[in-house]
Amino acid sequence: MDKNNDRAGIAAFIQSKCPRCGKGKVFSGSLFSLRSFSDTLECCPNCNLSYEPETGFFFGAMYFSYALIVGSIIVGSIVMNLLDLFEYAIYVIPILLILLLPLIFRHSRLFMLYVVYPLMYEEKFYGKRKDSEENK
Ligand SMILES: [Zn+2]
Repeated sequence: MDKNNDRAGIAAFIQSKCPRCGKGKVFSGSLFSLRSFSDTLECCPNCNLSYEPETGFFFGAMYFSYALIVGSIIVGSIVMNLLDLFEYAIYVIPILLILLLPLIFRHSRLFMLYVVYPLMYEEKFYGKRKDSEENK
């Protein structure tokens, strides 16, 4: 059986859904609440996938966060330059970054779940199906 069938696609990534089934939520709080935008569920309410395979798993999300922020600054600078408004970039880009912070935070975690999780914790991610195939 092709194990790639068990993974959710880009639509689920954008909607912040479970990386395995693509249906369950990953975050419990509202994206627009400063108190709860970072609240992450312990496991998928649909397929029961644990979202944190080991303690500190989401520590690695800071690398994705860094990449997203630097990428946003570069794209923002290019767009501001093309619009001939580069002199305002020093004000506009930081304000946009602060407003986008909840999205950047969540999608950094989602990158960990979608990219790193299936690679590093294959057995936990794909569950018993893979184990039962290998143990025969
Ligand atoms: Zn799920």
